[in-house]
Amino acid sequence: MAYLEFKFEDEITKYIREQELATSLKFVTLGKDKSFGQNDAQPLARKKLSWESKSIPFNGVPFQVVGTKTYECHQGKDRQTKAKEKYAAERDKKELEDHAFVKRRKLAQNTKKVDCKAIINIAQVIRFPDFKIEESTVRSKKEASQTLKAALSETPSSVKAEVVYCVRFPSLSEHSSHAVVGEAAYVREAVDARLREKIEQLTLSGVRKMTEMKCHLNTFVVEELFHGEQPPPPTRRRYYPTDSDIRNVMFKTKQATRDSNIDRPYEGPSVRGKKRSSRKLLRLRRQCAGYLKEITELTYHLQEEQYVTGLSSQLRSVLLDMKAHVPQDKGLPLTFSPSKRKAEMDMDLIPTKSASHPFTDGVEQYTEDIVSVDTLLALSLG
Ligand SMILES: [Zn+2]
Repeated sequence: MAYLEFKFEDEITKYIREQELATSLKFVTLGKDKSFGQNDAQPLARKKLSWESKSIPFNGVPFQVVGTKTYECHQGKDRQTKAKEKYAAERDKKELEDHAFVKRRKLAQNTKKVDCKAIINIAQVIRFPDFKIEESTVRSKKEASQTLKAALSETPSSVKAEVVYCVRFPSLSEHSSHAVVGEAAYVREAVDARLREKIEQLTLSGVRKMTEMKCHLNTFVVEELFHGEQPPPPTRRRYYPTDSDIRNVMFKTKQATRDSNIDRPYEGPSVRGKKRSSRKLLRLRRQCAGYLKEITELTYHLQEEQYVTGLSSQLRSVLLDMKAHVPQDKGLPLTFSPSKRKAEMDMDLIPTKSASHPFTDGVEQYTEDIVSVDTLLALSLG
């Protein structure tokens, strides 16, 4: 997910439209409070004070919500179901009456929309920056709330209040089971080096919780990397790394400090350690390949459509995640169907090294019986 703040509502609309162009996603309004977008919103002493919400991360500053608005992915729930059912019923009736009616293809029915749950949450809030607290403890929140409420009821004009629109954008992985153009490009994007460094720093300074880490990173991207500019779209993995990207860097950082505690300053794993880990890696790879092979075989025996739908989306996310863990600088060891590959070439995204075989050209030999990515893609996108 990505969290952004805007001063005006039309900036959000503009931003969403730009996102749509870049990703071929489409968002439609799902719901809106009456009070949302109110220009003369004023703080109220008796109104609830919040410190965070499901779409607004904690940053120490208390706020009151003026109103909210929600957009959903266009591939969301099919609101045309009723109309389609009616049409189908009429068509069936006609078919019964008229034997010459052309046989229709079974699949041509209601398969267009998938149930995508991706949502953009917008909250228009009034923030009270002068009442910022340092730590998220019950006590400091209670104390600050009391002083703020007292100030609001006695001398409201003395309280500094700023209206801001807080927006939570869904990440690509929140879009379920439908393709996102541009995704192929972004999915494999490496995390920005400055962001990696930031994760290392934060890990060393003791940040362990994923939510906290993400909140810091988001601030870093919006306020430091893109200070005074439009922040990058939430689809850019480079700036909005996935949980597993972050976990990897955290893990490596912790590992490195652990090693350096044992002997000298950290200089990388010892040669013997490296050999041992590469043997283990080979074994693990073989194990994975074995699982994949079995999965492929079993796939052809599956009967329940609903189960296969779920499985397909699970496999797809595994695949996307895997792609992100394949070394990025050695050419892409993944093969795609011709049309997909062409699309990517057009976008100039594939390194020019094309004559080499993707599975044998890497630094290390890949296990022979690994399942082809085409098979996986066919299974997951098919
Ligand atoms: Zn979606």
